[in-house]
Amino acid sequence: MLLNLKEIIEVPGGSIPFSCELETEGLDFPQIRAYETRPHAEGRVYNKAGILVLEGLLTAELVCICDRCGEEFRSIKETRLDATIVEENLEENPEFFTLVNDSIDLNEILSTLFVLDMETKFLCKEDCKGLCPSCGKNLNLGPCGCRKAMDPRFAVLEQLLDK
Ligand SMILES: [Zn+2]
Ligand SMILES: [Zn+2]
Repeated sequence: MLLNLKEIIEVPGGSIPFSCELETEGLDFPQIRAYETRPHAEGRVYNKAGILVLEGLLTAELVCICDRCGEEFRSIKETRLDATIVEENLEENPEFFTLVNDSIDLNEILSTLFVLDMETKFLCKEDCKGLCPSCGKNLNLGPCGCRKAMDPRFAVLEQLLDK
């Protein structure tokens, strides 16, 4: 979706609101199984003393795969949008986006910001216990029958008790 900024380019204080949905084609991550709905963004571009700034919020409802236990979980990801728009990106700064015919390509900017903000770890919950390295049981569902010596803290304890 193109957003034409012509009317605020020369107008400090001017602003243009936007509201759009993001295309998810190409936004593939191994831990994202699906997008529940198209990610939705709301915000504005404003002329801050001669500099065009895009700000807003992008919300995505995701079905993810947990890195530790492999279970699916749902998550709502919010990305704060903050980008600078320039007429010419001479230094090819990746944080700057360029105007083309006085317009910006919202989809391109939003998907770039979304990718940059992507988590490096996907966990179904912060204290996900993961799978037992021995028997593969999902330890969130309860302990397995393997020896507790798997845990190095218990191994140390056992050594102390053996003496
Ligand atoms: Zn998990
Ligand atoms: Zn086990």
